[in-house]
Amino acid sequence: MAGTDILYLVIPCYNEEAVLPETARQLLAKMNSMFDRGMISRESRILFVNDGSKDRTWEIIEELHASNSIYSGVKLSRNKGHQNALLAGLMTAKEKADMMISLDADLQDDVDVIDQMVEKYYAGNDIVYGVRSARKTDTFFKKFTAQGFYKIMQAMGVEIVYNHADYRLMSKRAVEGLAQFKEVNLFLRGIVPLIGYKSDVVTYERHERFAGESKYPLKKMLAFATDGITSFSIKPIRLITTCGILIFAVSILMLLYSLAVHFMGRTVAGWTSMIISIWAIGGLQLLAIGIVGEYIGKIYLETKARPKYIIETVLDE
Ligand code: UDP
Ligand code: MG
Repeated sequence: MAGTDILYLVIPCYNEEAVLPETARQLLAKMNSMFDRGMISRESRILFVNDGSKDRTWEIIEELHASNSIYSGVKLSRNKGHQNALLAGLMTAKEKADMMISLDADLQDDVDVIDQMVEKYYAGNDIVYGVRSARKTDTFFKKFTAQGFYKIMQAMGVEIVYNHADYRLMSKRAVEGLAQFKEVNLFLRGIVPLIGYKSDVVTYERHERFAGESKYPLKKMLAFATDGITSFSIKPIRLITTCGILIFAVSILMLLYSLAVHFMGRTVAGWTSMIISIWAIGGLQLLAIGIVGEYIGKIYLETKARPKYIIETVLDE
């Protein structure tokens, strides 16, 4: 399976001065061992993306680059968030790389499965997902919220790989496919499965962050989850429509019931017409909002201008 393809490791970094030197050291050791075994080309690089850090992150990247050309860097003009930083890195890397692996700067994702990812790439996979086997090191809260997130996403009809974060290998053509998704609200985990091609998974155990703090506080996690759902699914709109229909159906039952009670003469004046209008108008209003929502949903899907297809092979001649 030896090959000479170029591998780029893409690492988004936001205020990561505490972990960068150690991360760089470990990744270099990994790359060297793969060079020695002839698994990857010597043109391979470790690409750090500085996502507008406020600490010494970029200085460290510059020093690393000066010390060894295997380290390269991209500096964003300001903080744009993990997903955008990752995309910037992939789009830069795809110019030279044959395959790219994205991973976090804190090395919570096990570096040792990189070999397996590369092997699976040579075995013909365009995308290799890193999947967490256990969440032993996560706090109860993180585990609970994270797993709830995957469940909700699945219920909303978003196709995502369970327990897969952004640790994955992508081939050049897979990243080129990704480049065709023009949407601004980027949720990579949801888009990557839409690219297609042959894919596989590798499982690993997630470690604890060895230094520094998580850059995903609860606020960012919630924003991320909401983004994930609203940028993939119009099911919430459907929910309104369904509620409208249900309440309108109830209003018809209420109509029959109120009339019955009315004719039995067990009501006060005005009650029957009141109760019927409350239910009927409530239901109709929700239904109307839902219908308007359906059209907005359509506009929303159109504005994403997603690629309608990505061709894998053409047989001609
Ligand atoms: N990150 C980034 N920009 C941000 C926030 C985070 O590039 O605005 C990077 C961060 O440096 C790290 C990765 O995204 O490499 C994942 O962040 P973190 O490890 O803090 O998240 P957690 O593992 O706690 O979910
Ligand atoms: Mg982390």
